[in-house]
Amino acid sequence: MKIEKRILLKRYLDESIYGNPTLFTGNQDAIFVLDLDGCLVEVNPAFEDLSEYIAEESRQLNLQMLFPNEKSAKAFHFFQKALLGQFQNFDCKMTNKTGRILDLDVMFIPISVNNQIVGVSAVVKDITHLKRRHEEVRRMEEEAKKREETYRNLVEYSPDAVIIARGKEILFINETGVRLLGATKKEDILFKKILDIVHPDFYEAAQKRMNIATSGEATDFYEYKLIRLDGTIFAAEVKGIPTIYQNMPARYIIFRDITTREKTLELLLNAEKLHIAGQLAAGIAHEVRNPLTVIKGFLQLMETQLDNKLYFDIIQAEMDRIELILSELLVLAKPQDFKFEKEDLKTLIEDVKTLIGTEASMNNVQIDIVNEYKNLIVKCDKNQLKQVLINFLKNAIEAMPKGGFITIEVKKHSISKVKMLIKDTGSGMPQHILKRIGEPFFTTKESGTGLGIMISKQIIENHNGSIHFWSDQKGTIIEMILPTT
Ligand code: ADP
Ligand code: MG
Repeated sequence: MKIEKRILLKRYLDESIYGNPTLFTGNQDAIFVLDLDGCLVEVNPAFEDLSEYIAEESRQLNLQMLFPNEKSAKAFHFFQKALLGQFQNFDCKMTNKTGRILDLDVMFIPISVNNQIVGVSAVVKDITHLKRRHEEVRRMEEEAKKREETYRNLVEYSPDAVIIARGKEILFINETGVRLLGATKKEDILFKKILDIVHPDFYEAAQKRMNIATSGEATDFYEYKLIRLDGTIFAAEVKGIPTIYQNMPARYIIFRDITTREKTLELLLNAEKLHIAGQLAAGIAHEVRNPLTVIKGFLQLMETQLDNKLYFDIIQAEMDRIELILSELLVLAKPQDFKFEKEDLKTLIEDVKTLIGTEASMNNVQIDIVNEYKNLIVKCDKNQLKQVLINFLKNAIEAMPKGGFITIEVKKHSISKVKMLIKDTGSGMPQHILKRIGEPFFTTKESGTGLGIMISKQIIENHNGSIHFWSDQKGTIIEMILPTT
């Protein structure tokens, strides 16, 4: 019986295997044929390559030898099933001749001749690389997950508010960000688009900076107005950094509330204003007393005279002057709202001259205005710009204790810019002082605040202008360049 089956197997090999090169000898997959005892009777060249046994050696092997140790039982189990006529497919490890361990995908196909199972063909595929690659991918995925978790934690507990965004989508926000935007949970924000939290005045800037960060460059901190969930607006500085989030390019956006910083600046500004107001008060009192004396005199005269039209005109003019001076003083003494409006620079300079005039003449200082323009409109906050001029004029007067000249020059700088120069004939500043002016609280005066220049610079920059200082023993020149409308 067994011999008969062996003959049938031989016949199968002769007819189906040897005569069919594409199926056997030329096949890319390794194939071996087993007899009913599980001994190898034939192998193809691909199997020789894989196992590194030459054909003659292979024909000495059986299943147990091919799948050593615990694996052979598994192979044998499937072999038994194949002998019952069922096709089998399983993964199994095999050690080849040189001891290399291979991961194989094995197919056992029963060989049936004349309705009898006479052997089994085995087709094996080396999946070692495939398996290893799978494992590698899994490990990489795990690592990426771990990395992302660390990264997430770092971001989560960062003292700065952080958003991770791609395009207009908000992909992530940390706790600090949630709190800063007045939300109670992350979802409130994740639901929104980036521009939903930006004040419309800053859409353009935001869009531009989004493009920069998306193209792979970090942006500098920039001051924005952002909108909280309840619609209130706050000042924030924002920086965008290109990053990778969930394996895709994204933007890491840091934003900080700078309201308190702005408040401090505002307080300093007001402190400096009050300081100057206090210093000017003596001069102002004097200035107000003069017209009052005149008015009083005329009132006495009026008691005795009938035609008093001329007196009324004089009284009217003196009253106007008092009113103007007092209102200028109030500009300094009272905190004002910021308002950018079109203002005539000429009038503005003349108003300041009126206010500071007494102080100047008490110190023997003459103020001259040299102006190229008839009317020159600048978009500005009138009171802030006045404060800048008062700061600089006060400094100039203080630099000339024995008197001197101040010239305020207004010139064309370019088509859309005006240049204002304030020149004095004072003692000037040596290089080491010139370098430090504008630092908060830097002063060389006994009762100085050291805030005037810092605040003035800030104001000019807020007006998109720029400021420069020159100084030597003959005096100081301050140049301010401002955009016109
Ligand atoms: P403060 O006037 O309170 O000292 P400022 O910021 O206005 O503060 O000025 C800082 C310093 O700069 C002054 O103390 C002074 O030394 C110097 N300074 C400013 N303006 C002039 C000027 N026109 N001439 C000479 N020195 C000046
Ligand atoms: Mg000053």
